[in-house]
Amino acid sequence: ASPSGPAGSDDYGRPIYLNPAVPTQYRVNDLLRRMTLAEKVGQMAQIRVGKLRGDCNFANGPLVASCEQQVLVDAHVGSILSGGGDYPVDNTAKGWAQITNGIQHYTLDNSRLKIPVLYGADGVHGDNNLVTATMFPQQIGVGATWDPALAEKMGESTSSTMRATGVFWDFAPVSDISRDTRWGRYYETLSEDPTLAGTLAGSLVTGLQAYDGKGATAKLTATAKHFAGYSEPINGHDRVPAQIPVRELQDVFLPAFQPQIDAGARTAMANSGAINGVPVHASKFMLTTELRQRMGFTGVTVSDWSDMASLVTKYHMAPDYPTAIAMSVNAGVDMAMEPSDAAGYTNALLADVQNGLISQRRIDEAVGRILKLKFDLGLFEKPFVDENAADGIVNGAGTDLARQAATESTVLLRNDNKTLPLSTGVHKIVLAGDSANNPAQQFGGWTVNWQGVTPGGPTPPVVTPLQGIQQAVPNATVVAAPDQASAVAQAADADAVVVVLGEKAGAEGPNDNENPALTAAQQSLVDSLKATGKPVVVVLMTGRPLVLGSVASAPTLLADWLPGSQGGTALADILFGKANPSGRLPVSWPKTVGDEPMSYDQLPGTNGGTSSNYDPLFPFGFGLSYSTFTTSTPTVSAATVRADGKETVSVTVTNTGTVAGDQVVPVYVHQPVSQVLVPDKRLVGFTRVAGLKPGEARTVQVTFDVGKLAVTVGDVDASGRREVEKGAYAVVVGTAQTPFTVR
Ligand code: BGC
Repeated sequence: ASPSGPAGSDDYGRPIYLNPAVPTQYRVNDLLRRMTLAEKVGQMAQIRVGKLRGDCNFANGPLVASCEQQVLVDAHVGSILSGGGDYPVDNTAKGWAQITNGIQHYTLDNSRLKIPVLYGADGVHGDNNLVTATMFPQQIGVGATWDPALAEKMGESTSSTMRATGVFWDFAPVSDISRDTRWGRYYETLSEDPTLAGTLAGSLVTGLQAYDGKGATAKLTATAKHFAGYSEPINGHDRVPAQIPVRELQDVFLPAFQPQIDAGARTAMANSGAINGVPVHASKFMLTTELRQRMGFTGVTVSDWSDMASLVTKYHMAPDYPTAIAMSVNAGVDMAMEPSDAAGYTNALLADVQNGLISQRRIDEAVGRILKLKFDLGLFEKPFVDENAADGIVNGAGTDLARQAATESTVLLRNDNKTLPLSTGVHKIVLAGDSANNPAQQFGGWTVNWQGVTPGGPTPPVVTPLQGIQQAVPNATVVAAPDQASAVAQAADADAVVVVLGEKAGAEGPNDNENPALTAAQQSLVDSLKATGKPVVVVLMTGRPLVLGSVASAPTLLADWLPGSQGGTALADILFGKANPSGRLPVSWPKTVGDEPMSYDQLPGTNGGTSSNYDPLFPFGFGLSYSTFTTSTPTVSAATVRADGKETVSVTVTNTGTVAGDQVVPVYVHQPVSQVLVPDKRLVGFTRVAGLKPGEARTVQVTFDVGKLAVTVGDVDASGRREVEKGAYAVVVGTAQTPFTVR
């Protein structure tokens, strides 16, 4: 059947758009033809679930029909979201499914065209608003795994949990580049490097959406966020405007999003901040020229929280709300997230069309994308989820994966005295530090609540370091020392002390940190324990590489990030040698706060020594193992390649130690002479060589697009043309290099 006339029906008399056998674009067109303008603009709104409750405000109570009527029926709203901390009173998978099904029923029972609602939430480290779900490490830890296959599995697991609860839109992953540890959301990023961040984000998208690469329907939609340049506010404070030269934007910040787009991410979220004096929500250059025309995104662009209104209330770029909405929609935003007052927004949008500020065509384009997303997700065919199956799908799921992810994310920074692994025959271990038994700090922000788990409140499944160590060495005395004095006293007859140092959990602006360093008390604790002469293992359970102060000289040091539910189990596996550390730093570890913003790809300067040169405490990509590995001199598949070609690098990795382990192999390219500045080396690809036995050698390949070497050419006023310079390059693996030429 193909649509005929303004709104067709199929051979069974059913409207074309309700026939799943009809190609999606025909269904979209058929439905668009049937919709009134009011119905269309309603689809362009996404309202906070709290508005369906109580006095139609934010309460976490039951749904209330008068509020549902206002939002879902009168304003025709097409999408509902839970922001951080917006969850049902019954915060179980079944409780969630009942809420989302209830909303869906209300909508379908009370609407003319029966367009299902799409429900969205932030599942940024597992389904983190749901208190019964297993939590994975926060993204900074995922970055430290350098393991795209694992990221894909985490995406699949998160997707299955969210879908069981009726949430088909995940506002993740984050492709922002980690540059400044002062920024509150640093822990939500994957890496300072666009290739590492982008590759892992692409794998998360693949897992979340279960996209098969052939345009098939998606199980859930991921979100490429926050497009783009969000992570470098000029003073480290969240949502303060950024200054990013076009060159850096195009060569660093945007490439981190490309793999998400290539993996088929069906939605993108605009950066709440401004770049070079223009809010991204008003930037056609960012949201249309770059995102769609150059990078090939075809999905739905959603605003960030109330950010169309921000163009009036915060940025003072628009004199009134209707003008702000028009600016944003015309720049390329298809849907407003939480425009607060549903009717206020939809009425203003409608007036914009009537007043000619927004064209009918632009509305049809935006609504068409939103409807296509709903068709792609199969919501018209299957609007409800099975409430009775939800708990069975969610409870206990993902535990092994969370343990593997936490293990692979742990970076051994120092093991000078070979203190690790500890013997399982230990008699007494002292556990000290503020994160030794602290679920709130172990999870970080975006866990049940926006600002993390409320201490003493309900907590997702968790094994803390204290519990993990107790389980690993059941015959040892494991003593939790609440303060410095007791830790020092208890150390006297202990075999070893494990100090787990953390940071306060939190999200967004409230989590900004002007002094991202270990506190004086944390440093003093480690100093006093060192003075006992006992082996001290320092574990940094933090969402960023904090400046370490006196702890920088600790002989035994691990970065554990924010490891999630299985953090304690994974840590014990590593401490007692059941697992061999294999994580690598996804970011540079600064020596001082003044080093920030910091990244390994900083451009060359003219002073010598540490003044102009990259000088971290631990460099990007660093990480030790209980074993030792060598990598051969790399070989390349082609000594000469075209700028639009591919190069395959082969390298043999040998385990020269005495225990099995994984080895991450980063592949860089060095360009000896360039017409504009380029970093000394740029990551072009990587692989994780898994389970290499002592003495075993394995040859692995990494293929990269030569196009990755493109840079924005031109003088200081470069306007944006990117090209791969022809000439000499070299592939760098470890300390060995192999030249190749781009012709
Ligand atoms: C954040 C987004 C998030 C949204 C919904 C905003 O404040 O910037 O990352 O997806 O809230 O919770």
